[in-house]
Amino acid sequence: MLRQYGHSTAINQAPWRDTCADVVLSHLQLPSIAKMPDKLSYDIVIIGGGIAGLSAAQEASRLGHSVVVLEAQSGLAMGASGRNAGILCAGINMPITYTPKGSAAERLWQQTHEELLAVLAEASQSSTLLDVRRIGAMCLATSKTAAKRLARETKARLAAGMSAEVIGADDVDQLASGFLDVKDVHAAMLLPDEGAVHPLTLLATVANGARRHGAQIYGDARVEKVEKSAGGYCLQTANGKTINCRSVISAVGPIENATGRIFALAFDVEIPENCPVWWDANPYIYYDYRPGNGCLTVSGGRYGAPGTDALDATYHKNMAAATRRWVPSLKKIPKYCWAVDLHVAADLLPEITAQGENWLCIQGLGALGVLPGMVLGKQAANLIV
Ligand SMILES: Cc1cc2nc3c(=O)[nH]c(=O)nc-3n(C[C@H](O)[C@H](O)[C@H](O)COP(=O)(O)OP(=O)(O)OC[C@H]3O[C@@H](n4cnc5c(N)ncnc54)[C@H](O)[C@@H]3O)c2cc1C
Repeated sequence: MLRQYGHSTAINQAPWRDTCADVVLSHLQLPSIAKMPDKLSYDIVIIGGGIAGLSAAQEASRLGHSVVVLEAQSGLAMGASGRNAGILCAGINMPITYTPKGSAAERLWQQTHEELLAVLAEASQSSTLLDVRRIGAMCLATSKTAAKRLARETKARLAAGMSAEVIGADDVDQLASGFLDVKDVHAAMLLPDEGAVHPLTLLATVANGARRHGAQIYGDARVEKVEKSAGGYCLQTANGKTINCRSVISAVGPIENATGRIFALAFDVEIPENCPVWWDANPYIYYDYRPGNGCLTVSGGRYGAPGTDALDATYHKNMAAATRRWVPSLKKIPKYCWAVDLHVAADLLPEITAQGENWLCIQGLGALGVLPGMVLGKQAANLIV
């Protein structure tokens, strides 16, 4: 399927399915719940097979509980977790200095940093499917005000036990091996532990971790009804299956109840090896740039209106133009352009809420939710068991 890009066309999907091994894709396939017997019974039902739901499934099954994941789509990776920009980044979708003091979200900064280190350790195992590269990330300030804000942000990250340092334009130039035009850079915050993940390899790895501990994962299993029953809950899927359980974790993700449209594109371009991820410190631009897997992937910027693609071509052209300001040698047009409707808001905080007795919801992951989703998935599993 092709998407309009100016007078040309681009592939209308993320590059991930074209850039991973067939074995990874095979782990994303799911048996259809339609073929399963009715009235299955489990300790815990997890609604949604994105990174949050799969992380909850892995943890709950590791703790010895019988677990099923019910995924609405026919396979994994069709929600936000399979169509994101592949930046592996600790924290939540706002500066650490803006995160409410004493909140659970504030603790997520350190917790996601620890999760990041765990993912990096897993990726270094020889038998892993996981494609993660610790290339570092640079937040680039192009004004004195942004540079001052970065200095405060760096201090706050260090105080939270994370790694961060302020560097100059020359350092940025060197880290990117001359790939970026750094003439407007005043200063940068370098986050040495962050980097790039191939999203499908992460989903396949976590799904396999859950399966190894006995969790079952079914596709074509959109949950339409959750009702209280004598032993806990009774769930019904759109195709008429009934599942009984003691506890429920909802992890339906940010594509439900979308409030904005996020855009992304990828150029197929040669990039110096180990060039870090980078993004603009200016919150009114805020594009993210992720080198790797044969592409320069770009996401973010201003959100569009959900439910319409009328302005997609304009958003994508602005995004490509912003990329060329950093990489003037980039003459190509993007190979991939895609857009995803998401629930996003400036003050959105990732959280676990109680929907009922033994029924937890993971929500608020928005546009930066991979590591927070992993952390909250595990926390939800521990709370519910
Ligand atoms: C373009 C884009 C770029 C992004 N870039 C990054 C990035 O670089 N780094 C980062 O950390 N984050 C990024 N994000 C955000 C990140 O992808 C999400 O925050 C995260 O993946 C959310 O995970 P999740 O498991 O909650 O949701 P999802 O991955 O959406 O999973 C939820 C699942 O629930 C299923 N579901 C929904 N309703 C039901 C139902 N009733 N019954 C059964 N199943 C149901 C859906 O089909 C879906 O598979 C980006 C997002 C987008 C869209």
